[in-house]
Amino acid sequence: MKLVILDRDGVINKESPHYIKNTAEWHPIPGSMEAIAALTQAGYTICVATNQSGIARGYFSQDTLKEIHELLINTVKKFGGEISEIYYCPHGPNDGCNCRKPKPGLFEQIARDHGFAMDDFSKHNAIFIGDSKRDVELGLATKCKVFLVTSADSHGAQTLQELTDDEKQQITIVEDLAAATRIILS
Ligand SMILES: [Mg+2]
Ligand SMILES: [Zn+2]
Repeated sequence: MKLVILDRDGVINKESPHYIKNTAEWHPIPGSMEAIAALTQAGYTICVATNQSGIARGYFSQDTLKEIHELLINTVKKFGGEISEIYYCPHGPNDGCNCRKPKPGLFEQIARDHGFAMDDFSKHNAIFIGDSKRDVELGLATKCKVFLVTSADSHGAQTLQELTDDEKQQITIVEDLAAATRIILS
């Protein structure tokens, strides 16, 4: 299978230091909808893996998150793309869960749902595109091909300063999802 895993905030939609608390605050990054459509049409299965600690912090409810994700999925659909599934962690940093990235829980769910073992992300040439250090850590730990996006709509520029030289050498650094997609499809 051809699998692309996307972080949400900073990759698909604009990041906000104040969290995305409702559908009115969800703004797709220019070019991201078209990029997801291009990946879909090229036969990729596209999953989203996102930390949403705003739920644990009481900033928004599971129902509101569901509305935001329906808007995301429907907007992608309008552009001819398809999101297969959105995996999210609703916990906070001190909840001790196994799903808040860089913990592996969301990727364990993805592997299970697609019928392969946790060790087999590399065998399937899985691609992970994110903008945070925790995305890079998880992507490298699971041996995905990792892209870091760095545009002003993301955390990526700050992440670049947090990564070691060794980490930087193992990833592909791009402006945004559209740029990553051009490389993937070239
Ligand atoms: Mg992000
Ligand atoms: Zn969690």
